[in-house]
Amino acid sequence: MILADAHCHLGSRQFDNDREEVLSRMLENGVEKAILICCSEHDRLASMKLRDRYPGFRLALSIHPQDLEDDDLQRLTVLKQALIESHADMIGETGLDYYSHPHTKEAQIRFFEAQMEMAAELGLPVDIHSRKASRDTLEIIKKYPVKGIIHSYSGSGEMAQLYIKQGYCIAFGASVLFPNSRKPAQVIAQMPLDRLLVETDAPYQSPVKGHVHEPADVVAIYEKIAEIRKIRLEELASRVEENFDSVFLTIQSKDKHTRIT
Ligand SMILES: [Zn+2]
Repeated sequence: MILADAHCHLGSRQFDNDREEVLSRMLENGVEKAILICCSEHDRLASMKLRDRYPGFRLALSIHPQDLEDDDLQRLTVLKQALIESHADMIGETGLDYYSHPHTKEAQIRFFEAQMEMAAELGLPVDIHSRKASRDTLEIIKKYPVKGIIHSYSGSGEMAQLYIKQGYCIAFGASVLFPNSRKPAQVIAQMPLDRLLVETDAPYQSPVKGHVHEPADVVAIYEKIAEIRKIRLEELASRVEENFDSVFLTIQSKDKHTRIT
């Protein structure tokens, strides 16, 4: 049984001291596939080494919506170069965060649209971060012939359906483990199984106070989702693995030659 963590920051500084241990716990738990999200040069360099060692790992690079105090458009040129040079598999996480950074809303829209445009041009899927911004997120993704994942989903069932209609998968994280979380469970119960993904967002979003979230912890999220869906863990794992792979199969690269290693 193979598990996939559809969103983790394994290249993060927070894992600089114990990345190998975190990695072995991950593999011991069967988490052989993962999307390594990189929103800094440090994370990109650390993640590239891992991606080159493990065929199930995918590399995603982006400018994060929470990181737009400096909205110099030159950063987009640097990103594009990095995507091409490091043979990245995805752009992410990009998107809109009106909850934590309402003051950079305009820059967020500009950078999100530019990264969607880049994804269309390079034939890459996207991983989308959206907080308190679902309407604008949906309007923007409708404009681009791009597919991908809505990360750490906590919205309504109706909104999930609208994203699915645009060709996106919906990824659920540790919020399903919180004792009072009824809403994600209701949404998961009605999700088409061929659009569902599971993620940790490690080292962030740990359900246990004081614990650094790591990809191995995705097991508990799988178990909870299998329980909600009343299916066996093995069945959920194989459906999610198929969905994970399908995100990268939808690539219709116009310049495939840039991806040949
Ligand atoms: Zn993240």
